[in-house]
Amino acid sequence: MIDVVGGRSYSSWALWREVAKTIDALATLGVRPGDRVLVQTEKSVPVLALYLACAHMGSIFLPLNSAYTDAEAQWIVDDATPALVIRDPSRSLLAGVHRSLTSDANGAGSFADVVASTHGGPGEALVFTANSVKPNDLACLLYTSGTTGRPKGAMLTQHNLASNAFVLRDAWGVVPEDRLLHMLPIFHAHGLFVACNTMLAGGAAMTWLPRFDVDAFFDALPRSSVVMGVPTHYTRVLTDGRLSPQTSAHIRVFISGSAPLLASTHQAFEERTGQRILERYGMTETVMLTSNPLRGERRSGTVGRALPGVDVRTVDENGHLAGVGAVGSVEVRGPNVFSGYWNRPDLTASEFTSDGFFRTGDVGMIDHDDYLWLVGRAKDLVITGGLNVYPIEVEEALDAMPGVLESAVIGVADADFGEAVVAVVVAKPGAVLDPELLGVRARESLAVFKVPKRFHVVDALPRNAMGKVEKAKLRAQFGDEAISGVRR
Ligand code: AMP
Repeated sequence: MIDVVGGRSYSSWALWREVAKTIDALATLGVRPGDRVLVQTEKSVPVLALYLACAHMGSIFLPLNSAYTDAEAQWIVDDATPALVIRDPSRSLLAGVHRSLTSDANGAGSFADVVASTHGGPGEALVFTANSVKPNDLACLLYTSGTTGRPKGAMLTQHNLASNAFVLRDAWGVVPEDRLLHMLPIFHAHGLFVACNTMLAGGAAMTWLPRFDVDAFFDALPRSSVVMGVPTHYTRVLTDGRLSPQTSAHIRVFISGSAPLLASTHQAFEERTGQRILERYGMTETVMLTSNPLRGERRSGTVGRALPGVDVRTVDENGHLAGVGAVGSVEVRGPNVFSGYWNRPDLTASEFTSDGFFRTGDVGMIDHDDYLWLVGRAKDLVITGGLNVYPIEVEEALDAMPGVLESAVIGVADADFGEAVVAVVVAKPGAVLDPELLGVRARESLAVFKVPKRFHVVDALPRNAMGKVEKAKLRAQFGDEAISGVRR
């Protein structure tokens, strides 16, 4: 069952009835197995039903970030050539689209009208009986955020999604008595696959917030048993006096992912609530890869161990195993790993190794107990004077300084060093940061080559919908300024 805060409640029966009717609506609209259905709307249960309907009939669900501009959506339409496009009524029509319908934040619009006019007869037969969909058929096409270059469509199969849902259900002990506090968008793997698929696989209920909001979070918390969020959600609720052992005692597990959870957030959360956040790691192309354990040590700073059935390894620049404790590129293999990029056989071939591992683009280290420590994206690594600097190490040192709320470390072109380390920092409310002093402090805890050559104090770091710091934007903003001022 799904309760939408500020909206209606759907029992399981009502949800599957909606799915059945949606299958009939899609058939009426001429959508066939293998066709793409592109959706760019606000979060609504009818859109979840549309996703499930596509999965049942073998059509390919393609959700788009609601923040994408028309130009971005047009590029994806041209690439994916969907048979049906459903967008918010406020949006203009895109070129070259065979059929366009609307759906608003409540799920109302011309698509809902088609659904309402069906009886759910044949659809019901499809939902409740085995259909002809095969495990390796494509279920979803998700365009990755593409911080560099054009977005790429990751092709996820039925088996990728189903296998991961059941693995996560078991890893996190999801049972029908559970109720997830769902505050994520459903155009992304986190909110759609990790949250919805896992709860559906466990027969659990959900409370849906249209979007994250601190007051709505505390209102819904008493009725929840599982919380999933991105690190920014946890840092936000930490600033609120209502977070306490009493208000969170009944929560079975708080789960975090999609961006690094700082050790300081992990610790502060435990001090305030008595609960250790369970951090896990995955990506659009692979769904979930690793998780800290439900029972057992949740090791702060790590994303846990490989999930059952998933192989995770780290390799050096020659492709040899990096070995315990050594930093290397993270490569993965498993039933959850996607089948390639849409229309991009070249890229698909280059992103997989000859033995079938996908190159994640993340850099990390596996410790003696098989826990994975991520140190950043390979493209965010800074190589200065031939030495590697992992941004997270510098960020952790800066975040620990008095008056620093958060920081992001980037590499910018530099005539002397190839790249220079630059820090962008945000002050805590009421604090004033002196770049000179930050430099002095950084030299106390960091090797000299890791100390930022320049500090920029900003009001806030640019973040995407999943709370990830957009380093490409920071590089664009701060990269072209000559490194001047104090050389360190
Ligand atoms: P996306 O495809 O948008 O889900 O982004 C996937 C990327 O998010 C991964 O490749 C990682 O770089 C990052 N990511 C996901 N979970 C974590 C985590 N727990 N800690 C650090 N980075 C993460």
